[in-house]
Amino acid sequence: MSATTTPTPSASAARTTATGFSKTAHRLDGIEKGPIVRFMTDQVAEVNGHLSRDSIRCLPCEKDQAGGFHPTLGILLCQNKLRDRNHVEDTIAHEMVHAYDHLRFQVDWDNPKHLACSEIRASTLSGECRPWQEWMVRGQWKFLRHMEQCVRRRATISVSGHPKVKGDMEMAGKIVDQVFDSCYKDTRPFREVYR
Ligand SMILES: [Zn+2]
Repeated sequence: MSATTTPTPSASAARTTATGFSKTAHRLDGIEKGPIVRFMTDQVAEVNGHLSRDSIRCLPCEKDQAGGFHPTLGILLCQNKLRDRNHVEDTIAHEMVHAYDHLRFQVDWDNPKHLACSEIRASTLSGECRPWQEWMVRGQWKFLRHMEQCVRRRATISVSGHPKVKGDMEMAGKIVDQVFDSCYKDTRPFREVYR
């Protein structure tokens, strides 16, 4: 899906990290002009936060994740996991929902239930569970899933990575179930979600 060209082997060997970085950094060009990124930047400002290009770092990730949010470090983009521009935008939007939740709802990230709620909201509101998006990624219509199932699946995977859940998918699923209905319905700061 990437439109970038592969560097020649001799050049790539010495520049792997730099090339990976510039690839993602290049994809950030004009990212602040995208409607959802602009909207969320404003909403985070409303709750006394400040997000800009400087809040975003591009680094390689080992885990199966596209990005991350840290209350003091900001937004992480996993340069080796991002497929294309839309994926970059969805990932930034997802992490911006976490930033918003952190400021507006004083999320206790140490509590897996709090994390579950923010993950449900981030996957619902960022657009990463749009039906066509799932189809693009899964590649087959038979895997086309409803938004709700996509949100549940993604939230469960994220919660399983919490230090208190230690990779236990069953426990993660139960935690997601406990908070799902109220958090899925809570679309703040959006009025509604396009499904
Ligand atoms: Zn997340």
